[in-house]
Amino acid sequence: MIDSLRTQREGDPLKTGGVVGVVGAVSAADALKLARRAGIRLDINGDQVSLEWPDTSAAQAVIDLLRRFKPEVTELLSAERRAIVMWINGNFRPGPTGRCVQCGGGGRQHDPFVSLFVGEDRADIHASCHAKWIAEQEAEAWVALGIEIPKERRTDK
Ligand SMILES: [Zn+2]
Repeated sequence: MIDSLRTQREGDPLKTGGVVGVVGAVSAADALKLARRAGIRLDINGDQVSLEWPDTSAAQAVIDLLRRFKPEVTELLSAERRAIVMWINGNFRPGPTGRCVQCGGGGRQHDPFVSLFVGEDRADIHASCHAKWIAEQEAEAWVALGIEIPKERRTDK
């Protein structure tokens, strides 16, 4: 599914890893998919990848795979991140000034508005609603881009 990102991405082609041993071909994209199925949480910040994993043998096996593909996995994650940001910007819905785009509420004394700008478009959002808004935008982007949704973020448990 990560292959669909190739068209979303500018610049050099994605590296998807090579053949591992005699067992068969496993790509970095496969490793990433397996990681998410095993409940491993992956975050990327710059070129720094952080992992959080459940204490299961399945997760442990995938961690070894991720280590083997570290440069490729880092590349894939940052490509995903860029695609997600592009998607969120491309689907940005402006809102009226002084009204929260997340909860629809007006100004609150101890919860200042944060203004979001994409090009000419603008939306106001409560500081306390921002994290929820981002999470929902990301969830929409994952679906739209066909990215495997991290296990811990799935709502259909
Ligand atoms: Zn709000």
